[in-house]
Amino acid sequence: MQHRHLLPNEIDLLLDGEVGFGVAPLRAHVDGCEDCQARLARSRKIVDVLEDLEHFAPSVRFADRVMAQVQIVEPWHVAALDTARRFVPQSASMRTIMAATASAAALALTSGAVWLALHADLTLYSLNLAAGRARTMLMDSAASIIGTAFGQSGLDTLRSSGLRGLALGAGVMIVAVGGATFGLRALASSSRRSRE
Ligand SMILES: [Zn+2]
Repeated sequence: MQHRHLLPNEIDLLLDGEVGFGVAPLRAHVDGCEDCQARLARSRKIVDVLEDLEHFAPSVRFADRVMAQVQIVEPWHVAALDTARRFVPQSASMRTIMAATASAAALALTSGAVWLALHADLTLYSLNLAAGRARTMLMDSAASIIGTAFGQSGLDTLRSSGLRGLALGAGVMIVAVGGATFGLRALASSSRRSRE
C-alpha cells in the first residue's frame, strides 16, 4: 500500500474506472485511508451531478454564423509570410532542388556581374581607352560588387587568381545549374508519371 494521499489526477483515474498496473496500489490506499475515501466520494458526487446535467450542443451552423461576423484583419507580414510559404514545396526533395536552383541563380548572377566588371575593365585596358575617371569609376563599382558578393578575401583572391579563378567559378556555376535543371526535370517527369 502506498503511504501518501492520492493526488487529484489519481482520484480521476479511480473515478474513470481505470484498471491497470498503477491503479491497484491507489485502490489499496483508498481502502485503508478515510481521508481519501471521503475525497473520492465527494468527487464521485460531483461527477454524478455533472452527468445528470442536460447535454446540449450548439445548433449546426453556429460556428459559421459567429465567424461570419468576425472581421479577421491579417497583418501584412503574416500575409506576406503565408504567400512565401505557398511557394515552398512540401516535399524535402523538392525543397532541396529549389534551394539548389536558388543558389545556382544567385551564383550565376554574381559570377556574371563579376565577369562583366572585370571583362569590361580588361577590354578598356587593351584598347587603351582606360583613362581617367571612367576607369576609376568602373574599378570602384567592380570592386564594390565583388566586395559585396565575396567579401575582402574574395576580392583579394579574384585579383590574384584573375581569369583562372573566374573560369573555376563559371565551372561551378555550370555544374550547379545543370544539376538543378536535371533534378527539376526528373521531378517533373516523376510527378507526371504519378499523375497518370
Ligand atoms: Zn489517503
